[in-house]
Amino acid sequence: MNVEGNNIASTSSTDTQIFKHIWQLDVPGKIKHFIPKASHNRLATMDNLLKRYVQVPDISQFCEDMSETIMHVFHECKYVKEVNRLLNIKDFTLRVWDFRDLVKEKWKRLSPDKFCIWVLCMWDIWHQRILKSEKNLSDLHQKW
Ligand SMILES: [Zn+2]
Repeated sequence: MNVEGNNIASTSSTDTQIFKHIWQLDVPGKIKHFIPKASHNRLATMDNLLKRYVQVPDISQFCEDMSETIMHVFHECKYVKEVNRLLNIKDFTLRVWDFRDLVKEKWKRLSPDKFCIWVLCMWDIWHQRILKSEKNLSDLHQKW
């Protein structure tokens, strides 16, 4: 157990506590909105676009090595692992099945300041990923 982390009483109230905490972070509103959107798997990752019949390559826009799911972008991709390593954030891979679990794990195990930094970095990763996918898709269309 990490003494740095936020204390929580039970899992039933955890989501409410976490999202309340995120809403109180001193970050721009677009970043506060990003976490619940990602938690509901509502980001335009390649796998989500394909589910909506948008013709895109089913590949990570960062590593170009794996299918791009939300969990790949924010947990599995070698680039996010490098970001976590640089931030000295340990990889808590057990019991993390979706982005919501990932947020819970980080919230439980990181100090409030570090959790805020993690949230900012996840938003920036998504922002960089949007810029990269726009460039990749533009390059792809120019080849056709
Ligand atoms: Zn990747």
